[in-house]
Amino acid sequence: MTMPSNFGHLDIPVVHHQTDVLIVGGGAAGTMAAFECAEAGVAVIQATKGRATSGTTTVARGGFAAAMGEDDSPELHLQDILEHGGELIDPELARVWVYDIVDVVHDLESWGAEFVRRADGRLDLKSFPSHSRDRACHHYDTTGNMITKVLSRKLRADARIAKHSITAIVDLLVQDGRVVGAWGVDYRNGALVIYQAQQVILCTGGGSGLFYVNDNPPQVTGDGYVLGFRAGVPLLGIEMIDFQAMCCSPKELFGFAPHPTGFINAGAVFRNQGGEEFLKRYFPDTAEQSTRSEVILAMAKEIHAGRATSTGGIFMDATKVPMEVIQKQIPHVYKTCLHRGIDITKTPLEVAPGSHTWLGGLKVDVDGKTPVAGLFAAGETAGGIHGGNRIGGSALSASLVYGRRAGRKAAALAREARVDLARLEVDAIPEFERAWLADLMRRDSGALQSDVRMNCCMLAHNKLGPIREERTLREALAEYERIEREESWMSDELKAQALPTIDAVLGDPSASFWLKTALHSALCRDPVDAAHDSAVLAGLLGQRCDEILKAS
Ligand SMILES: Cc1cc2nc3c(=O)[nH]c(=O)nc-3n(C[C@H](O)[C@H](O)[C@H](O)COP(=O)(O)OP(=O)(O)OC[C@H]3O[C@@H](n4cnc5c(N)ncnc54)[C@H](O)[C@@H]3O)c2cc1C
Repeated sequence: MTMPSNFGHLDIPVVHHQTDVLIVGGGAAGTMAAFECAEAGVAVIQATKGRATSGTTTVARGGFAAAMGEDDSPELHLQDILEHGGELIDPELARVWVYDIVDVVHDLESWGAEFVRRADGRLDLKSFPSHSRDRACHHYDTTGNMITKVLSRKLRADARIAKHSITAIVDLLVQDGRVVGAWGVDYRNGALVIYQAQQVILCTGGGSGLFYVNDNPPQVTGDGYVLGFRAGVPLLGIEMIDFQAMCCSPKELFGFAPHPTGFINAGAVFRNQGGEEFLKRYFPDTAEQSTRSEVILAMAKEIHAGRATSTGGIFMDATKVPMEVIQKQIPHVYKTCLHRGIDITKTPLEVAPGSHTWLGGLKVDVDGKTPVAGLFAAGETAGGIHGGNRIGGSALSASLVYGRRAGRKAAALAREARVDLARLEVDAIPEFERAWLADLMRRDSGALQSDVRMNCCMLAHNKLGPIREERTLREALAEYERIEREESWMSDELKAQALPTIDAVLGDPSASFWLKTALHSALCRDPVDAAHDSAVLAGLLGQRCDEILKAS
């Protein structure tokens, strides 16, 4: 149904849809959820800002953890997760996940997933740092790409799932404290879309796109956190970020994430400017085999202490690794670098920390249900699953499991606890965006809107990295307040175009909301250091972000 526009002065059609379950996002979590809804026989729409299957799932590399080995068990897997996640983990969420993932591996294989197998037919389970057993199911260093192809093929073949791609959800529709749908922008057809739904599942991934240096696809900008929080869902550990080494040199590879776990597994070492293998100094027993967060923290400390390379990084050196090992462990990375003129067997890469995955998120129970009626969250959007540190191969694994669980439960609730959607009078634009937009339209001067967003990303990069100090966090808050006061401005030419304006309404509050929340949240931790390792986390009370916001 197409209705006249009510989007301010802009002439844009509005399209209405009703469904049982609306899934926002098309990565591992969103797509697994969609399959469950289709199987349960409820009407389901999957809206995705990117293509139908998109997000960080498509670029996942080394593999994901599941206790599939003969010497392994979900209980052992659970112990490893709890040991490293610290007190911010909800143990029940972790328990359910390690059992379910075994089933998910079988499902993926039955849908055509080609995990690498050994000559005797058993799964070739990779060893990942911090896991007590070899348990990474993988397809070399293109695991995400292989899984995406499988999910994508199955999704395309399933006519029961309505796919609304290149459609960004801007906000949830809430009535009497219950989520009853969402509204967004269909960029493909240039229309506003209003979805009325019995249940909504947020699977928008993490928020690494809000950092100046990150390795995520551009659509991943923390939207789900803002949507859920505005609807009343508490946020847990939102400032907990998993940093990863990203290239700062050679310039041909700037920003490229070279998959350090693969490099380490192949036998590469990290060196500082002086050529010292510094990890041995920090962690004499484990050196390169230390947890990812330990390696990143040590790297950040070396940079901080002035022992960085001339481009501000640390050498990741695979020049002594035999070619056949490189070919086996990181063939895709090797080819990508070679394609850009760099042979990693001859040239060490220079890397520095950038935002990779986010560990916190919306509060959920074991079915992905948030405390707000009608709303679920799964994948990187959900919190409490990884605590303060995720060990390698956990993000994809948890996204697959919790997407499936959320889809199953949302479908069941959509059948049982139905709301009469026809009686709801929804407005295309809730109050929050209406006020924001009116403000933007009214202003005829200020800082360029795109600069304001970029300043937030730079501030996050500079002040919310792996090393945090109270003094610099307070400086960052003051800087944020200055940016906030600056008030963003759009040229008349841009204001006259619907899509850039809507993009601003969607993107700017996200960046600004997260930055403010994360800064407050980081300041409330004691110590403020974002080390994320169990030693630092031990003793933390796990103060909740919602409490922090209330207190601030
Ligand atoms: C380079 C890289 C390598 C990685 N390697 C591994 C690995 O080897 N093992 C591992 O376990 N993990 C790995 N990860 C992490 C893992 O891939 C992700 O955490 C996981 O895939 C997240 O899945 P998801 O479904 O939650 O989100 P995503 O796959 O990010 O999907 C998010 C979806 O939400 C959509 N979306 C976003 N905002 C909106 C909106 N407003 N409206 C509508 N749609 C929206 C996007 O278009 C996308 O479809 C890696 C990550 C990166 C960046």
